[in-house]
Amino acid sequence: MNADLHCHSVVSDGTLTPEALAQRAHANGVQLWSLTDHDELGGQERAKAAAADLKMDYLAGVEISVTWMGQTIHIVGLGINHQDADILDGLKRTREGRGDRAKQMADQLLKVGIPGAYEGALHYAGNHDLISRTHFARFLVEKGVCKDTEHVFKNYLVEDKPGYVPHRWANLDQAISWIKHAGGVAVIAHPGRYKLNAMQRDELFQFFKDHGGLGIEVITGSHSPDQYQEYGKIAKQYGFLASRGSDFHDPSESHIDLGVLPLLPEHLTPVWSVFH
Ligand code: AMP
Ligand code: MN
Ligand code: MN
Ligand code: MN
Repeated sequence: MNADLHCHSVVSDGTLTPEALAQRAHANGVQLWSLTDHDELGGQERAKAAAADLKMDYLAGVEISVTWMGQTIHIVGLGINHQDADILDGLKRTREGRGDRAKQMADQLLKVGIPGAYEGALHYAGNHDLISRTHFARFLVEKGVCKDTEHVFKNYLVEDKPGYVPHRWANLDQAISWIKHAGGVAVIAHPGRYKLNAMQRDELFQFFKDHGGLGIEVITGSHSPDQYQEYGKIAKQYGFLASRGSDFHDPSESHIDLGVLPLLPEHLTPVWSVFH
């Protein structure tokens, strides 16, 4: 099954509309799709309608920003009721600090000789509530400070570099409970991206499982082929359902297009097996 259960639209930090993403996914052979904007469900109606027009199966989704042991972790929620009051309220609170954080990021960039970053980033944000580092990255590329966004995330906006402002997101147990309350399945996004030692990683997976988390991304645009293997083993070890998603944001920025990743290995239980 060609399922792509992780991508972003203009409602968060992607550059395509939900409709354009649906068409692109469908054209690439995706059979089951989910739009998982960061901390925001505003694109769900449009994505669902666009998928229905194309006769492509759809799961309502979200990617929630979480702070766990001082680190930012992303939790994808799949198959949620996108009108559930609990999750809508939780996400609203999660989004709240972004405006102030963005202004502090711009202040730091000004100090290293880059003026106008707040307004410049806001210009790229389709949804001002969701102003994110990605929008700053696009502004820095526009200004010629870096040649692409990959360079930005090596030299700016990350720990110990200009423009980095630590931020407190939702708690992991809260995020899982919002997703569960909304009838969905919680999935750890791109686990290979977190800087955790073996003990912290085990603690994360165990805590996630103990609080009702069910899935983990195995095949994602953020993993290398070695990591497909590694996280496939982890899925088995912890009894997690396996997920697959490109994390597509933009045709020129994203290396992996919608639906073009390797299929999930046969020996894993796909996360979509719980949605018939
Ligand atoms: P924020 O939620 O504002 O901290 O922004 C996080 C977003 O920045 C992620 O969802 C990615 O889209 C983007 N991002 C973070 N790290 C990288 C990276 N190393 N390369 C490219 N994009 C990144
Ligand atoms: Mn993003
Ligand atoms: Mn993410
Ligand atoms: Mn993502």
